Amino acid sequence: MISSLIIPSPIQHLPIPIYSDYGVDLWVKREDLIHDSISGNKWRKLKYNLLQARQEGKRRLVTFGGAFSNHIYAVAAAGHALGWDTLGFIRGEQTDPLNPTLAFARSMGMELRFLSRSEYRDHKRVIAESGIDMEQYYVLPEGGTNELALPGCAEIGLEIKEQFEKVPDYIAVCCGTGGTIAGLIEGMEDESQIMGFSVLKGNFHQPIIQDLLRASAIKKKRKESASWNRWSINTDYHFGGYARHKQELIDFINKYKAQFQLPLDPIYTAKLFWGLEDLVKKQYFKPETTILAIHTGGLQGIQGFNQRFGHLIH
Ligand SMILES: *Cc1c(COP(=O)(O)O)cnc(C)c1O
Repeated sequence: MISSLIIPSPIQHLPIPIYSDYGVDLWVKREDLIHDSISGNKWRKLKYNLLQARQEGKRRLVTFGGAFSNHIYAVAAAGHALGWDTLGFIRGEQTDPLNPTLAFARSMGMELRFLSRSEYRDHKRVIAESGIDMEQYYVLPEGGTNELALPGCAEIGLEIKEQFEKVPDYIAVCCGTGGTIAGLIEGMEDESQIMGFSVLKGNFHQPIIQDLLRASAIKKKRKESASWNRWSINTDYHFGGYARHKQELIDFINKYKAQFQLPLDPIYTAKLFWGLEDLVKKQYFKPETTILAIHTGGLQGIQGFNQRFGHLIH
């Protein structure tokens, strides 16, 4: 439905010395290359939602997000590519000029409506009070995670099985809402050990992911996925949550770009690669282990991050 998507997303081997030192083989699945602006897991989560919207005869999307949201950016671009109207409810006050994420969204034709943090909280109410015609709008949740996000993310797993003769021992992915890892767990059908790296403070993912898997299993009338247990969430590498910045993480991003030509973003993917490298150094992985890291995209966020904090990321 959208042209010029790079699917399946390419995989590449990453020859990082510290990994070789410990006999660990690192691969990366470049979801960031799927599309210039509908990149990574945000495309995966949108796919079946867009098909559903079309089936319902809806040609307008409404969604929610923070001012630097990868999801807002992707929805605006997807709407533009499809010729559909998009409306984004944005948490927080409007800035003048708009930050790069929102300037892009507006340039893609997205209507932006700004809400205070307290107004923003209750999404149902925001929609009810907005006066938009719900016969025409398809609602995407903040971050894009809902039941229909799972089959799209499961396709990451299906591709991995086709791209590797023998599936990797571990698949690593970062987690915000948990939708991406839930779909990936389904797609891998317990064939690899899946490690989620939480980018947020706190230990709350387990039940959310279980619920997503259960709902999806019920829908498909099958039992397995809700009981699959070869996955875990690591909560050690959140670096304080969204939009915090630590110099060591910035240096790490610049090093990966310069030495391994792998661009990472400071909110999600850098934490994943940092966590993996730290676990390698701590000999968490046995020699001859193969790891596939999912690069979920999010690179659009770098521009806004640099604008806020000074030009830190090269
Ligand atoms: C949104 C996002 C995530 C988090 O995905 P969830 O499905 O919410 O867990 C991870 N990485 C990037 C780059 C993202 O934009």
